[in-house]
Formats: sequence, C-alpha cells, structure tokens
Amino acid sequence: MSTEYDAIVIGAGIAGAGVAAELAADRRVVLLEQEERPGMHTTGRSASLHSETYGGPCVRLLSRASRAHFLEGVEGRPFATPCGSLYLATEAQLDRLDAFASQPTVAPAVDRIGESALRAFIPLLRPGVVVAALFERDACGLDVDAIHGDFLKRFRRAGGTLRCSAPVTGLDHAGGQWRVAAGGQSFRAPLVINAAGAWGDVVAALAGVRPLGLQPRRRTVALVDPPAGVDPGAWPMAVDIDEQFYFKPDAGRIIVSPADETPMPPCDAWPEDIDVAIAIDRVQQVIDLPVHRVSHSWAGLRTFAPDRSPVAGFDTEAPGFFWLVGQGGYGIQTAPALSRLAAALARGETIPADLEAIGLQASDLAPDRLAR
Ligand SMILES: Cc1cc2nc3c(=O)[nH]c(=O)nc-3n(C[C@H](O)[C@H](O)[C@H](O)COP(=O)(O)OP(=O)(O)OC[C@H]3O[C@@H](n4cnc5c(N)ncnc54)[C@H](O)[C@@H]3O)c2cc1C
Repeated sequence: MSTEYDAIVIGAGIAGAGVAAELAADRRVVLLEQEERPGMHTTGRSASLHSETYGGPCVRLLSRASRAHFLEGVEGRPFATPCGSLYLATEAQLDRLDAFASQPTVAPAVDRIGESALRAFIPLLRPGVVVAALFERDACGLDVDAIHGDFLKRFRRAGGTLRCSAPVTGLDHAGGQWRVAAGGQSFRAPLVINAAGAWGDVVAALAGVRPLGLQPRRRTVALVDPPAGVDPGAWPMAVDIDEQFYFKPDAGRIIVSPADETPMPPCDAWPEDIDVAIAIDRVQQVIDLPVHRVSHSWAGLRTFAPDRSPVAGFDTEAPGFFWLVGQGGYGIQTAPALSRLAAALARGETIPADLEAIGLQASDLAPDRLAR
C-alpha cells in the first residue's frame, strides 16, 4: 500500500520537526522517524544555549533571526531564559580573546571584564588562572523540549502525519515522485526532505544521491554536584575562548564538558569515561570544584558539513531531494529561522524577506557550495 503526500520529511529531530511544521501549513506532509519517539538523538542531548556570537557567519545570522521566536514562546511562556555567557581567557589566551572581541558581530554583544568582576559571577574561580573574560549579555538558556514539542504540536494541528518506529530503508525516484519505504509502508511524494542529522549521508546513499561528506562528531557532557552551600543557579555559561571546555548551571547541578569533537560514524552516541575525566580536569583547573561523583553523563553527535555551516537546499543532481543537515552545535538556536528558510526554498520560493534583509543568501546554504 502506498500513501501519497506533497512532502516526506525524514528525521523528527528539531530540524525535521521545524521544517515539517512550516510546510504542513499548506502541504500534506508525513514526518518519518526511525525511533519510537522524536528527539531521541542529538536534539534531546544539547546544552540548550542561544548565543549570537557562536559559530560562523551564517549560524550567527540564523541565531539572531531566531531570537524573537524564543523570547515570545507560546501561550505567554517564553522558550528562552536570559542567563548570559562568558568566554574565559588565561594570560596566554588574551590575544585570542581580544581578536575574538574585535569581530564586528561580537564587539557590540560583549563586555570585557577582569578577574574581580568575573569572580562576582563565579565565586569558585581559582585566583590568577582566568585573568579576563567576555560577557555576552543577551545569551539565553533554551527550553529545548518545549521548542521541539511546539514544532510537533503545530505540525499535528495543521494536519501533518508523524510516523515513529519508521526507519527509512529505501528511496527511489520515478515519474517525478519519490517512493520511500519506511516501517513496512511505502510513501510517495514529489519532495523528500533529508533531515536525518548524523545519518544525512546514509539517507542520501539510500536514494543514490552523492554524499556531502557530513562529519558526525561526539560531544560529551557530565552533571556534577556543586560544593555544599554553593548555588550555581545564577552563573552564566562559561566557555574557554579556545573551546577546550565549558561549564554551566543545570537545575542545581553543574554541567561540565571537554568540548570534544571526536569523529564518529552515525550511531546512538555514549560518553567515554576518559572524556568525562578530561572535562572535570579542565574545569577544575579554573574553578575550585571538588567532584565526588558524576550524577549523570551523556553524549550526542554534532554533525558538520565540511565548511561547518548548515546546509539547506535542493540537490542539483536529484530532483525533489532537499538537504536540511549540518547544523553542528547550533541546530537548536538556529531552528526557527532555518525552518522558515528551508520551507520557503523547498516550496520553490525565495528566502523570506526578513532573512534576506539581514544578509542571508540561498547560495550560502546550498549543498552545491560543497565540493563533492
Ligand atoms: C552535547 C551537545 C550540546 C549541544 N548544545 C547545543 C546548544 O547549546 N545550542 C544549540 O543550538 N545546539 C546545540 N547542540 C547541537 C544541536 O543539538 C543539534 O544541532 C541539533 O539537535 C540537530 O538536530 P537534527 O534534527 O539535525 O538531528 P537529530 O536530533 O539527531 O535528528 C535526526 C533524526 O533523524 C532520525 N533518522 C536518522 N536516520 C533515519 C532514517 N533512515 N529514517 C527515519 N529517521 C531517521 C534520527 O533518529 C533522529 O531522530 C548540541 C549538541 C550536543 C550533542
């Protein structure tokens, strides 16, 4: 039995849910997810930060354009909570801190602060190690479940069909239609959107489409208790200027990460003990944080295109095959704008005017910018 749609979206993480919610407003859309529920892979494992100074130029524009959506939220509940973030530098890193601070998109967003002001934010700071920092005033913590859940709710309300436990195992194209085999069923549509995250190139291979060279990279995080009597709740996120570690508060505990980027095949990623140990060691070099036990640790795959910028656009060699991949470590904070942009391009329209006005161009996101 075959089921006819206008669009088939593969992968129900934040990317697939976002574009499916946009397209369902005026298209018949089916969203296919291999797992028993949406968001089990990278989307469910993020550090939940929105920072307009993180990532490359395209990511920063998409993050800026997504901010209003996060602040507005739904039914009076914002998706974002202001928390601020800090880029930390030791004496030896000061030239990198200053070079970063002088970038045109960074300079207006940050204040440079010294050790004593930094201590007011993070009292556990070890003396004489971190000597300066940049404070990004408008960085926010994000409620990822609520953002993702809202996309899925909008999708269902608009009449979209979500099929979980439906791994796509075959795609072929004939007579202007894609036929997609998933979970024992067959689905047909002229448009397929590949939002399969770490599996983006695997899904392309099923369709006979040349891969983009996507690189899934594992990132590890661990939750540890603060010292007795210390409430880290008001701390900003703190990131080493060379992105060798970060730490941030999380519901009374502290998240630590070695900011690892270990290349991996697509898989259900698990944390390695050594990466947890490295995270704790690096963080302990800058703050006085005795760790007696790790409450919980996890890892997820941040998947990058070779130029580390997201990909949204039609494959030039396979009609009706649309890529929405390579969101790397920024897929949550860019999702609202990237979903709108991807939906417009997938409909054959130009980039939404407000996104074009801030400098986004379809060619910057197109898959054919990448040498294959
Ligand atoms: C530790 C960590 C911290 C992060 N911190 C942040 C942060 O602070 N801010 C931020 O913006 N981003 C952050 N990110 C990145 C962000 O989480 C990702 O960019 C984003 O979740 C990617 O979403 P996605 O939908 O592309 O991928 P995924 O969420 O992995 O979704 C892809 C989906 O496709 C499905 N799929 C794959 N193959 C098939 C198939 N054949 N058939 C059907 N379904 C299939 C998978 O099961 C999966 O559900 C972080 C990531 C990690 C790991």
